[in-house]
Amino acid sequence: MKKYVYFFAKNKSEGNAQMRDLLGGKGANLAEMARLGIPVPPGFTITTEACTYFYQNNGQYPEGLKEQVLEGMKRIEEEVGRKFGDSQNPLLVSVRSGARVSMPGMMDTVLNLGLNDETVKGLVKLSGDERFAYDCYRRFVQMYGDVVMGLKPEEKEMDPFEKLLEKKKEERGVKFDTELTADDLKELVQEFKNLIREKKGEEFPEDPWEQLWGAIDAVFLSWNNKRAIEYRKIHGIPDHWGTAVNVQTMVFGNMGEDSGTGVAFTRDPATGENVFYGEYLLNAQGEDVVAGIRTPLPLSKAQKTDESLPSLEEIMPQVYQELLKIREILEKHYRDMQDIEFTIEKGKLYMLQTRTGKRTAQANVKIAVDMCKEGLIDKKEAVRRVKPEEIDQLLHPMIDPKAKVEVIAKGLPASPGAAKGKVVFSAQDAVEESKEGEVILVRMETSPEDIAGMHAAQGILTARGGMTSHAAVVARGMGKPCVVGCESITVDYEKEEFRVGDIVVKRGEVITIDGSTGRVILGSAPMVEPQLKGEFAELMRWADEIRKLGVRTNADTPHDAKLAREFGAEGIGLCRTEHMFFAPDRIKAMREMIIARDAEGRKKALEKLLPMQREDFIGIFRVMEGLPVIIRLLDPPLHEFLPQEDEQIREIAEELGVSFEELKAKVEGLRELNPMLGHRGCRLGITYPEITEMQAKAIFEAACQVYKEGKKVIPEIMVPLVGDVNEFRNQKEIIVRVAEEVMEKEGIKIEYMVGTMIEIPRACLVADEIAKEADFFSFGTNDLTQMGFGFSRDDVGKFVPYYIEKGILPRDPFSSLDIKGIGALVKIGIEKGRSVKPELEIGICGEHGGDPDSIKFCHKVGMNYVSCSPFRVPVARLSAAHAVLEEEEEK
Ligand code: ADP
Ligand code: MG
Ligand code: MG
Repeated sequence: MKKYVYFFAKNKSEGNAQMRDLLGGKGANLAEMARLGIPVPPGFTITTEACTYFYQNNGQYPEGLKEQVLEGMKRIEEEVGRKFGDSQNPLLVSVRSGARVSMPGMMDTVLNLGLNDETVKGLVKLSGDERFAYDCYRRFVQMYGDVVMGLKPEEKEMDPFEKLLEKKKEERGVKFDTELTADDLKELVQEFKNLIREKKGEEFPEDPWEQLWGAIDAVFLSWNNKRAIEYRKIHGIPDHWGTAVNVQTMVFGNMGEDSGTGVAFTRDPATGENVFYGEYLLNAQGEDVVAGIRTPLPLSKAQKTDESLPSLEEIMPQVYQELLKIREILEKHYRDMQDIEFTIEKGKLYMLQTRTGKRTAQANVKIAVDMCKEGLIDKKEAVRRVKPEEIDQLLHPMIDPKAKVEVIAKGLPASPGAAKGKVVFSAQDAVEESKEGEVILVRMETSPEDIAGMHAAQGILTARGGMTSHAAVVARGMGKPCVVGCESITVDYEKEEFRVGDIVVKRGEVITIDGSTGRVILGSAPMVEPQLKGEFAELMRWADEIRKLGVRTNADTPHDAKLAREFGAEGIGLCRTEHMFFAPDRIKAMREMIIARDAEGRKKALEKLLPMQREDFIGIFRVMEGLPVIIRLLDPPLHEFLPQEDEQIREIAEELGVSFEELKAKVEGLRELNPMLGHRGCRLGITYPEITEMQAKAIFEAACQVYKEGKKVIPEIMVPLVGDVNEFRNQKEIIVRVAEEVMEKEGIKIEYMVGTMIEIPRACLVADEIAKEADFFSFGTNDLTQMGFGFSRDDVGKFVPYYIEKGILPRDPFSSLDIKGIGALVKIGIEKGRSVKPELEIGICGEHGGDPDSIKFCHKVGMNYVSCSPFRVPVARLSAAHAVLEEEEEK
């Protein structure tokens, strides 16, 4: 018979960490910790296969599951010497969800299961503490009612059991639940049960076995609750995996002041620093720490920000030392930062969970580099651990340190980076209003129901909760700036405002939050670009050692070029020249050129443009000293430079000294039905050779000038939109002629190349012919995708999102290269090109040059480099290294 139940206990585990697909992350790691001799309360894991069976068979259990669970319970009973359902010496268990990858707080868990009116008496006897026993009992009835019997309310509503609890506290005139007496709690248990009867027309089940199976079903079913589905969508987790169920002996953190519960990270999850970092509460159970109900206390002395709050290190030094030891064992064993849950029962420590800890991108980089230096992992592993997409976060702006800002409050810096936006108070509003612009979600605390809103918001601010609160953990995972535990603000959901002292901030007002310092700032604060030094630079150097692809940048200005060089760009892969003509002082000359009646008129206007264009190139060549610079000749349809509205036409006609009618006629004449397939690219330079002549002249005069300054220049001139080799020949002839003229006049000889963009499908198919003439190819995959798919780039918004939703396309082919189709065209182009010129320099300059998956493809097909926007350069360097590592793994 198939095995569905795996037992775990200190040194007696049937499972291990490798079995996470079958046992879920939580189950596999509980088994593993127990294997390592770490104190883990005994229990067993029901496999994910049982869950998938359950779903495929309308809630039926697979054959043998019942018996195996029974057997598992018996083994736990033997292990701990208690009996499930016994009125003298009762065993209580928790029933916990746990998928292959951690989905924190998304699915359900029930604690203290096995309690009823009889067994609670046994618990009183065992603990000698009536208050404690009834506290467990009322918690259990509440959780069971919420989770198993479905009384958990929708977002924004208060839990009906919490309402009763609040009422009781009010009646008794106390503030905390810890102040309620055993009798109060007894009454509450009764009231809770009455509530269940009223709402469900059913009795709360007294039979522990019925409770157990009810909870197991509930955990299975929680795999498909709304928030779990939402979470899977955001994180790309398949729906068919299912969850495992862990049934585990209860240990009690709520047995008084010598008991407690906590969570910790083996290193600081915000900065990555090698310090133990966590939070705890005394006399508390399970979720109390993360729920943000009471603000938790710091684990270590070093972590203290408020002297009056006692750390665990001070209160229970022995337990703290033991935790430190376990921290070391776990880090050595898992060779990665761990996120742990623990409970202290009357001074004895138990571990309840370990998993790879979620962290900020900054922390991830630091931890990877540090662990490599500590000898835990090698360089390749360090590089492998940092995902290209996540370092994007590190390139986020921060608040200008020199700026004067109005700080109205300060909370805990839960997830770094700065964000600004309009204030909203519910997840739903965040989702709605983020469509219009940036929003900051402000909540008392967040719960798993809020994740869609957190995802939509630019940043998150909460009034309560610590560094391990839901808001903090989720925001870090999403890479969103987040400030939590900002106790000085009062949030009023009804009025849709929050207050700090006299200041009232209403919905729709703009605030800035700084997740690196915890500051909350009124209005929109100025931001600055980040600096990339230290561990980041080190990791990037390791990536450079591994990668084979070159990384260039798309930059049109010296400023961008300089930035890209600082980010590690090894040249310019695309310098667009049209942007240079849009500046106010230039557009006039450009327009003169366009409306000129003949070549003479055009030449005259171009004479005016020449010095400006030359200056641009001088600036870029200087910045890119010693590195290749690809300059693309004018590409867009000319009408883009002309005004379209009558009023504007009138104004400009006056300025240019022509009649309104004449200019209007010119604009009409340039209008095209399909401008993207019209008179643009090399077609312009072919019909108006003066344009190409002027651009070539500007490039080579600039090159000579910079050369004379003693700097090495490597110009590569690129002809756009070539579909036939004769188009290229035509343009190349002009470029080479002008180049030789200029260089002869200057008496200078500079090496240069003339190549082409490959962006028309036909060019891929005749790439061998083109390669005979061209010195290099650069794949313009934006246009290639547009023309390959026949999707107008500017109109895809109307249908591509729908295609993705319906699964017709896996993703937007303009952001990630369609490898199957457009990629096949690229491959043909490369093969044909290299068949005549084996050393042909080949790169990519479309948006795809900064997309990790597309970059991996470029590596595979043997390109020489990718080119992307400056901010994507580090992402590209890392992606290129990952491409090599993945290739090695495949072998
Ligand atoms: P989640 O996946 O949402 O973290 P868990 O299954 O880890 O849910 O449980 C929720 C809380 O209950 C955690 O704080 C955990 O430590 C605590 N808990 C779970 N099982 C036990 C147990 N057997 N004894 C004591 N506390 C437990
Ligand atoms: Mg947990
Ligand atoms: Mg193009």
